[in-house]
Amino acid sequence: MSQKISIGIVGVGKIARDQHLPALAALDGFDLVACASRNATVDGVRNYPTIDALLAAEPTLDAVSLCATPQVRFDQARAALAAGKHVMLEKPPGASLNEIEVLRAMAQSAGRTLFATWHSRYAPAVDVSREWLASRTIRAVEVRWKEDVRRWHPGQAWVWEPGGLGVFDPGINALSIVTRILPREIILRSAALYVPANTQTPIAADLDFTDETGVPVRAEFDWRHGPVEQWEIDVDTDDGLLHLSEGGKRLSIAGKTVELAAEREYPALYERFQWLIEHGAHDVDVRPLRHVADSFLLGRRHEVEAFHD
Ligand code: NAP
Repeated sequence: MSQKISIGIVGVGKIARDQHLPALAALDGFDLVACASRNATVDGVRNYPTIDALLAAEPTLDAVSLCATPQVRFDQARAALAAGKHVMLEKPPGASLNEIEVLRAMAQSAGRTLFATWHSRYAPAVDVSREWLASRTIRAVEVRWKEDVRRWHPGQAWVWEPGGLGVFDPGINALSIVTRILPREIILRSAALYVPANTQTPIAADLDFTDETGVPVRAEFDWRHGPVEQWEIDVDTDDGLLHLSEGGKRLSIAGKTVELAAEREYPALYERFQWLIEHGAHDVDVRPLRHVADSFLLGRRHEVEAFHD
């Protein structure tokens, strides 16, 4: 059996506690030895206030998993690669597109793995949908990704700041699925961004894409939704409707429920990271973030009611 990969988590907040710590605890391939966070510690490992302190004190660490907010991703990833670590990035992989290209080049020249994760792509409906759609004629795609921001992002001021993406923080998960399951690339044609009077990022967005052949792909993202989330993608085909729901945990095709494996997005992400490290490979697909950037480039802004948490 190959040796365990010693790993550190950087940014111990909601997603680190909800998903990364339990996933690592359940996997044999990794040994979580250290964490770095300014305001939090994790029991049973060595804790440091910053990534720089962690890197200085842990020269034999193999890898880091960066779980802080996107605005600080680049500086943390650059420091980790410079220290010779393999790097796993939470989504989105950065606050700009170019910083990811710089990291990609750094990782290549350092001979270290860079893994830009898209956790929603590991939802059980995704690969089944991709395979089924590969041989169908697609007529139209509709995405509805709607939730209550107060439930999912309570007190997270960073989502409203530049680089925080606003409603694209969950919306990019839908885009990561769409870019995985559709057989052709999509191109943004127009967008409407609904921006509260007191924030820098949108609370809702309507996006109109077509695929390369002109098939319409429409997406609605909304953070002003009621208590029951809507994380759905409909793909209308000549063999019936593919309906992905609950963020990819459920799937029906032509009205029939498809039996799926249990959801295990984060364990699967770490297994992929292990495979990439063992094979000296990278996985950096920026397309979901590129569609967000295009939305900010092409989007018509509409000011809406101020948001108060
Ligand atoms: P969060 O809890 O608000 O923040 C995560 C941690 O980032 C904080 O606890 C903080 O740790 C650290 N941090 C914040 N600002 C920092 C700064 N200026 N310098 C250094 N560290 C800083 O956010 P989250 O919900 O975990 O989200 C983090 C990332 O995971 C985001 O990119 C998000 O899109 C992604 N994600 C979140 C979810 C979810 O359900 N929440 C799901 C999937 C992916 P310290 O203050 O202790 O340093």
